[in-house]
Amino acid sequence: MQTIDNFNFAGKKAFVRVDFNVPLDESFNITDDTRIRAALPTLKKIIGDGGSVIIGSHLGRPKGVEEKFSLKHILGHVSKLLGVDVQFANDCAGEEAASKAAALQPGEALLLENLRFYAEEEGKPRGLAADATDEEKKAAKKALKEKQKEFAKRLASYADCYVNDAFGTAHRAHASTAIMADDFDADHKMFGYLMEKEVIAVEKVMKDINRPFTAIMGGSKVSSKIEIIENLLSKVDNLIITGGMTYTFTKAQGGKIGNSIVEDDKLDLALDLIKKAKANNVNLVLAVDAKIADKFSNEANTKFCKVSEIPDGWEGLDIGPETEKIYADVIKKSKTILWNGPTGVFEFENFTHGSRSVGEAIVEATKNGAFSLVGGGDSVACVNKFDMADKVSYVSTGGGALLEAIEGKTLPGIAAVKGESY
Ligand code: AMP
Repeated sequence: MQTIDNFNFAGKKAFVRVDFNVPLDESFNITDDTRIRAALPTLKKIIGDGGSVIIGSHLGRPKGVEEKFSLKHILGHVSKLLGVDVQFANDCAGEEAASKAAALQPGEALLLENLRFYAEEEGKPRGLAADATDEEKKAAKKALKEKQKEFAKRLASYADCYVNDAFGTAHRAHASTAIMADDFDADHKMFGYLMEKEVIAVEKVMKDINRPFTAIMGGSKVSSKIEIIENLLSKVDNLIITGGMTYTFTKAQGGKIGNSIVEDDKLDLALDLIKKAKANNVNLVLAVDAKIADKFSNEANTKFCKVSEIPDGWEGLDIGPETEKIYADVIKKSKTILWNGPTGVFEFENFTHGSRSVGEAIVEATKNGAFSLVGGGDSVACVNKFDMADKVSYVSTGGGALLEAIEGKTLPGIAAVKGESY
């Protein structure tokens, strides 16, 4: 497989798919530029080699051409960070884009307008009548698939090589994230640095596992994590199931959970997961005590109690001190750690203690040589909140993409670059 480090971009035009889907305020100021910064090493390497870059990205979820989702809002900031006066094409697939791409000189950069202004990018038909039949929907999708290939070819025609650095959209088989890779041979398509790092981090927890391997799955609902939990049961030595999911397990085992969050239709599933863990020799670690509150609020009255003895009118909003200790002991003995989801309602200051203690244990294990991967929206917010991002081995930038990878699914964005099917 070709790699960005081995490729000499001198005199070459590279189409770089990035994820510049950054948050903007009402005046179109970027409120968090992490995603742009994350792509800089790749863009700078290409330009430094004497190549030129054609940058493609999406922004938001436009339903067509929508001014508020224009990438021109971020052009100035991208130029500033890259240190190059980046040109802009008002359309990603029109004449302007093609001619500006053709005229690019070594060291220059061109930002294309939002790829999702075209339905072809995602391959999802737009503007179907509300009462469209299934047949009509199918026909529209099929027609769009053909146009999607043409769209991908058009994007590919601008460049000599293709670099995918958008891990955040790697789980989507979109024109620019996967399909256009088919238009380049194996020597002319590769991952960018960010994507490379993400792929290596995922492989460390999915393939090259150093044991013991502990996964900490938190968050609110079992239903949203079920596929990941099932996949992890065949991989991990220890599985800590925590956060709001705790109470579904507690109730399933006959415990009293008061008003705690619960999925009553998932009680059997919880029992089934407990059985599967046993059958797979996985040490399933559940909370033994909870920090309970008399309302869902940071200002609630609180106390600690056994997780299976929560009084009526109270709800568990975080783990208790005994549980913290049990989790920390398991985590500190681990050599590979995956953390997804908080132990409680960490958005409320009074219920952050458990998540922080998990973070601290992970930091300590990492110091002692463990590989730790933190990923999935809320746990990233946790490590940032606790200033731990640079004390764990890797913080993934791709929420949905990371979760799908952990579920064991093939990510089209990765497979397409490797020339594998997806
Ligand atoms: P998820 O998006 O499924 O990863 O869940 C993250 C959310 O779960 C966060 O917003 C937490 O506030 C929430 N959460 C964690 N523990 C609890 C709990 N005990 N009760 C209610 N919500 C919780």
